[in-house]
Amino acid sequence: MKQKISKYDWDLECLLKNKPLDWWIKKWQESLDYDVKNQNHFYKSKKQFIQWLDKSLEQDKIENVLFNYVSNHANEDTTNQKWIAIGQKINFIAIKYNQLLSKLTNIILKNQKTIQKYLEDKQLKKYKREFYLIFRQKPHILKEAYENLLSRLSGTINNTGDIFSTLTNSDLEFSEPVSDNKNKKHHIKNAYDLIKILETSNDRVLRKSAWICFHKTYYKHRNTLSKTLFYNFLSENKKDKIRNFKGYVDKCLFADEVSEKTLTNIYKNVESFKNLVYKFKKIRNKHLQTVLKLKNIEPWDLSFNYLTTNKISIEEAKKDILMALKPLGDKYTKIVKKAFNEHWISFMPKKGKLTGAYSIGGTYGLKKIYILMNFVGSLNSVKTLAHEIGHSVQSYLFNQKQDIYANVAIFYAEIASICNETLLFFYLLKKYQNQPKIKKYLIINFINDFFGATTRQIIFSEFEYNTANMINNDQPFTADMGLDMYLKLIKKYENLSPSQEKNLQTLPYKYSLSTIFRIDHFYMNSLYVYKYAIGQIVGLYIASRIFKKDKVVLKRYFNFLESGDSLNPLDTIALLGVDLSNKKIYDEAKQTLTKLIEQLKL
Ligand SMILES: [Zn+2]
Repeated sequence: MKQKISKYDWDLECLLKNKPLDWWIKKWQESLDYDVKNQNHFYKSKKQFIQWLDKSLEQDKIENVLFNYVSNHANEDTTNQKWIAIGQKINFIAIKYNQLLSKLTNIILKNQKTIQKYLEDKQLKKYKREFYLIFRQKPHILKEAYENLLSRLSGTINNTGDIFSTLTNSDLEFSEPVSDNKNKKHHIKNAYDLIKILETSNDRVLRKSAWICFHKTYYKHRNTLSKTLFYNFLSENKKDKIRNFKGYVDKCLFADEVSEKTLTNIYKNVESFKNLVYKFKKIRNKHLQTVLKLKNIEPWDLSFNYLTTNKISIEEAKKDILMALKPLGDKYTKIVKKAFNEHWISFMPKKGKLTGAYSIGGTYGLKKIYILMNFVGSLNSVKTLAHEIGHSVQSYLFNQKQDIYANVAIFYAEIASICNETLLFFYLLKKYQNQPKIKKYLIINFINDFFGATTRQIIFSEFEYNTANMINNDQPFTADMGLDMYLKLIKKYENLSPSQEKNLQTLPYKYSLSTIFRIDHFYMNSLYVYKYAIGQIVGLYIASRIFKKDKVVLKRYFNFLESGDSLNPLDTIALLGVDLSNKKIYDEAKQTLTKLIEQLKL
């Protein structure tokens, strides 16, 4: 019997195409068995090779159905035992076959010449990039005995990420009670409670004591945290050196297909925002002084959400988003309407549902690109929806054009979502043009987000870059050195006044420097955070041009969205007419922001 799906739920059942889940699991295992059986033969003739490639595309489709069906159900109710058990069952199958197929890369590398010959065939040319990505790993693959040894040690070499998350998510205790202006004590359970106070409490005394408690707790653990970070980079550098990389940074840049010069160039260009950051903060704080009726603005006032708007309904949000995305044309908005009308989205918060929001990955072969979110009727909820729609439409579009390259690299993944956020921002600015309080609130939020993703993340990125390199060169790294380096980088990128600098070296403000030790991406080992800046800067550029009806950029944008990961990251961005090493795009961002900052003065 077909169950009726409620209006704001996603339709996951249609993934299974009327077959039971077990049928899909069986089909998946059969396709993995085929791989195991053929791993020593697939390259022996062109015919076998083609068959093997076709089967692997089929396998992708099956996996995408299976994994998305199970993981999305599990995320909708993280406590549901049924989905936990099915998830584990699938995981065990994956682990088993991973081991059975662990030599596959080596087999491909050993037969590189034969495969390269096949790839000259007209029909197979499109696979060139896929195999290039494997062949380029050759200098970094070790002799079989060493590979074997490393795989037996896997899971034991560097577990600092797990230690970091256990400490910060479970063990860290915010033990000091936080007091409000009536001296009532509030006991805090976790970091989320504190952040909620900072965002929503009208009581400034409570906000101040929450802010201090939050940062002081991390500060008190600065030695453990900095040591965990030290061992993380020490271990990664050593591991990467064994694989013939210069170290951790070199390995990460290799994976992104980006040169060190590209990275340091982004640092240099984002540094050029510093006068604007300084100016914005000054004007923003002056504005907040008036709105919040305060003599001076302190860090605990900055996250406070002072604007109380009426609750926005999901229907209103959909309408606003469709209006905002109109400049992208019918081709784009038609897909957005599909998402809204055909149950792609799980909108509402539910008990046990994963917090936050995402648009699914692994979408090749799927008709619906699902979104999970927790809509609460705030302007932020509308922004989140526009953001995730950006990811989903991109996946939908490259799925229509690509088969082997129906993916997106993290390097440029946020461009489409930031473009949508920015178009929504431009639309809302117009919508609220006669309501200066809302308009200024929107501008402040937008610029906060912009510098949050560029200046702030680049400070983090340069910290990661410097620290990993220092440790790679056998230099010591202590908690005090980490705090000191972080302060120097803030100075470099934000143009602090001497009094602001002095402030940051004095308690309680100094506690906030411990922020640098709680960046979880540092422990995920992919040199990640600078990619936020790319999404923000390129997304702003594209949205500004499209908003001004630039037809050339709009056409390029579709080429970009449809390209999937068929090109390397920098060539993909080049489809947009954007060169990250040229300061033009950064200058354009500065111009757009300067104009917005001027509007705050009015
Ligand atoms: Zn995103």
